[in-house]
Amino acid sequence: MTPPIQSKLPNVGTTIFTVMSGLATEYNAVNLGQGFPDYPMNHELTGLVNKAMQDNYNQYAPMPGWLPLREAIAEKASFLYGSNINPDTEITITPGGTYAIYSAFTAILQPGDEVIVFEPAYDSYIPNIEINGAVAVRLPLVYPDYHIDWNLVQQSITPKTKAIIINSPHNPTGSVIGEKDIEALRAITAGTGIFIISDEVYEHLIFDGIPHQSMLRYPDLLERSFVCFSLGKVYNCTGWKLGYCIAPAPLMKEFRKVHQFNCFSCHTPVQVGLAAFMKNREAYLGLSAEMQAKRDLFTELMKSTRFDMLQSHGSYFICAGYNRISEEADKAFSIRLTKEAGVATIPVSAFYQHGKDDKVLRFCFSKNQDTLERAVEKLVRL
Ligand code: GLN
Repeated sequence: MTPPIQSKLPNVGTTIFTVMSGLATEYNAVNLGQGFPDYPMNHELTGLVNKAMQDNYNQYAPMPGWLPLREAIAEKASFLYGSNINPDTEITITPGGTYAIYSAFTAILQPGDEVIVFEPAYDSYIPNIEINGAVAVRLPLVYPDYHIDWNLVQQSITPKTKAIIINSPHNPTGSVIGEKDIEALRAITAGTGIFIISDEVYEHLIFDGIPHQSMLRYPDLLERSFVCFSLGKVYNCTGWKLGYCIAPAPLMKEFRKVHQFNCFSCHTPVQVGLAAFMKNREAYLGLSAEMQAKRDLFTELMKSTRFDMLQSHGSYFICAGYNRISEEADKAFSIRLTKEAGVATIPVSAFYQHGKDDKVLRFCFSKNQDTLERAVEKLVRL
């Protein structure tokens, strides 16, 4: 008999992204659910990776990552945010942003520690905390613009608070933090032992001329931060699953202890190709304008439907209420929408541990114009 497992994650099922992408395929629906571009990535970059393979860069990379890639990342952090990062001791290349976040939590958390998490929250955060025996202290972002209530954060700090996780631009809502948020974060964490995990995977997908408030800009915040990035998001290649973490050397030392016995090192030819390609600043500086145009197109098209669009200032996503269409729970509505209307989305209740339902769906607009038009053609009929 197969022995039963006492689950470490008893409340976790299959992720909503897997469920909705599966349904989209089954019902041949337009997939505006899971966040990924449906257009090709840059061929110069795929060429560089092919070349790296042909040039025999096919054995293990160093544990912290291919050094020229770490050097290119340090150079970029200095150019964009004025930060002085040591590529040798303060950067580790990871198999994606999710893994960087998990490794940061695993490096710092002890059983019983508390982590402040803002809901709606990207779905991996709370399981990452709980698998380490720690407790997620869930605070609501304030609907409808989903800003952080810093008074509530202050009231929620206890001697057990080990970390705060920030995600800007934010998945699923597209909200972004500003200078006032930085001031509040500073006031709350100064002189404490609280760490910051900063999920900045959408650093280049920020709209309306708003500057990205990276922790890399602020030495006093960076000294307590693990800053996590996704190269898949920057180069339209989410399937490559490559990212990195930047943290001060003493924090990175612990991070690498987790990393070296979990993954050890990442895909070598992709790192070699990216190290050469990252010198091309235009490839990431142009992203915001490109994605903002998609947001604007989708928002304009959606005006002909009965969805009520919320604001998105960043990420791949925009949310919309559907009170004028249905009274169903968001999960039931999104499943019916996929099966009957032929458009897959993500119900925002999936980003709350206890499924809070504001009757809002998340739409991914990092798609071809034709895809967005086909989706809206179906949605106007509702
Ligand atoms: N980050 C992507 C999203 O929010 C999905 C990633 C995944 O499927 N795990 O849609």
